Amino acid sequence: MSAELPNVVFVLGGPGAGKGTQCAKIVEKFQYVHLSAGDLLREERNTEGSAYGELIESHIRNGTIVPVEITCSLLATAMKKSGNNKFLIDGFPRNKDNLDGWQKEMGDKTNVQFVLFFDCSQEACMERCLQRGAAGSGRSDDNEESLKKRFQTYVKDTMAIIEHYDALGLVRKIDASQSPDQVFEDVTKAFE
Ligand code: UDP
Ligand code: MG
Repeated sequence: MSAELPNVVFVLGGPGAGKGTQCAKIVEKFQYVHLSAGDLLREERNTEGSAYGELIESHIRNGTIVPVEITCSLLATAMKKSGNNKFLIDGFPRNKDNLDGWQKEMGDKTNVQFVLFFDCSQEACMERCLQRGAAGSGRSDDNEESLKKRFQTYVKDTMAIIEHYDALGLVRKIDASQSPDQVFEDVTKAFE
C-alpha cells in the first residue's frame, strides 16, 4: 500500500442491487469520484465512430461481459481526466478476465481500499430493474430476457470475484434489500 497511489473502492452486487443509487450518496458525503463501468460502456457505445459500439451493445443485451481491454482503458482514461485520487468503481471487475486485466494494467498504479458488496435477493433485484425499465430507464437490458442472462453472469462469474476479495479480507458486505436511506446508513459505517 502506498500513500501516493489513487484509492479505489470497487462496488459490486447484482443488477438492481442499488450500486448507482448508493454511489451518488457516497460521492456527496465522502467526495469520491463515481465511475460506473456500465455507464462508460454505454457512453462509448453511443459515441459516433467508435469501433466498439456494436460489440458493446451485443454484450449488454446478452448480459455478458465486454473484453477487459475496452473497459479498463475507459476507466483509466476517466480516472486520469478527473484529476482526483479516490474513486468508486461501480460494476467492475465482474469476471476473471476483468480482474486479470485490471491487475495487469492498474494493479501497481492504484490501491484497492475495499470492495463494497451490495447483497440483495434476485427477486428484489429483478423487480427493481423491471420497474426501472417500465419507468423509462431507456436501457436495452432492463427487460426480463436480458435480466435473466445478467443474473446468470452475476452468479457464474461475478460472485467468484467477490469471493476472491473476501479471501483477502477486503469485502464490506451491505444488506441492500432495505430502503435507500437505510442502506446508506450501513454504507456510511463501511466508510468510517
Ligand atoms: N458491463 C461489462 N463490463 C463491466 C460493466 C458492465 O461488460 O465492467 C456490461 C455488461 O454487459 C452488463 C451491462 O454492461 O450486464 C450493464 O452493466 P451495469 O453495471 O450498468 O448494470 P447494473 O449492474 O448496474 O444494473
Ligand atoms: Mg449501475
